[in-house]
Amino acid sequence: MYDINTKRLIKTFTDMAKISSPSWGENAMRGYIVNAVKKLGVTARQFRSGESYNLLLTVRGDTKRKPVLFSAHMDTVTPCDNVKPVVSQTKITSDGTTILGSDDKAAIAMFLEGLRYNKEIRMPHGPIEILISCAEEVGLRGIKEFDTSVLKARHAFVFDSDGPVGKIVLQAPYHSTMSIAVTGRAAHAGMEPEKGINAINVLSEIITLLPASRIDHETTVNVGTISGGRATNIVAEKAVCVLEARSIDYRKLRKQEVLIRSIAKETSARFKARCAISRTLEYSGFTIHPDAVISQIAATAMARIGIRHQFEVSGGGSDTNILNAAGISAVNLSAGMQRVHTTKEYVMIRDLIKGTKLVLSIIDIMR
Ligand SMILES: [Zn+2]
Repeated sequence: MYDINTKRLIKTFTDMAKISSPSWGENAMRGYIVNAVKKLGVTARQFRSGESYNLLLTVRGDTKRKPVLFSAHMDTVTPCDNVKPVVSQTKITSDGTTILGSDDKAAIAMFLEGLRYNKEIRMPHGPIEILISCAEEVGLRGIKEFDTSVLKARHAFVFDSDGPVGKIVLQAPYHSTMSIAVTGRAAHAGMEPEKGINAINVLSEIITLLPASRIDHETTVNVGTISGGRATNIVAEKAVCVLEARSIDYRKLRKQEVLIRSIAKETSARFKARCAISRTLEYSGFTIHPDAVISQIAATAMARIGIRHQFEVSGGGSDTNILNAAGISAVNLSAGMQRVHTTKEYVMIRDLIKGTKLVLSIIDIMR
């Protein structure tokens, strides 16, 4: 089923891989996509987000059928300049000096080949929306500023998970960051250290008491950075640490936050230091039931083209989190990318093909 043009698919992917597209620097990449869909009866709209733009492609279709949303991101992590894709019989890699950018250009290549094939064989379909976000890799910034009320679809398939095609991510965590800023009292470290309160010592004590690493099967806490102090001859007046907490279960996340806050406050008080705590929810988590409509469409679309599906839980955030929070039922599917965010990144050609067929299969069964 779906006799797609593999050569064209690979060319589209490698052409895009060669375009440098760091977060907030996606202009050339966006231009490529807009140009690629020009003759396909696709409307391309750009929506400003920070210093860049999200791109929304829409294809008109039978309005008696439910609209479907596909989503991916066009930015990549670095190093992403002068990517030289190396195509072997089975896979595509970089030359080893850069990332490849299959995260997430593999997905975009699947969408573009899907649209081309769809146009060629005149497959019946409902309305199709394809949202390609910018600045995903720097904290989902692009999609966070996107007004999701312009979307018609209530069901979304984000293609931004790694591993062979077949994975369906149904759960991802809530994620918050906190900073703990301790203020002690400065004093000369040699002449009158007893007059000072060393903020570094206080913060160290706090950190050793904090929950850390894996708290339970769906909750984690990690101190990521510390800074503070000015010189060895000064009792440190200020010290700051930034940490993150994640959990699939929002109540568990809150529980960790409350615990962290109370440890920081009590410990600072014990040393007569002050402490200021800030907290930001970076994004909401989501949990989709395996029997939900969206999960079943994904699984059925895979089964009819011979792909075995696995439902999985993710430890990280993606545009899927934002779409779910906006009331659009969304799952995150694997786009075949492997060893992402490293110079060893690669994608199997068979996964590029499977992913394209999966896009078509979803379009086909969407009613
Ligand atoms: Zn990605």
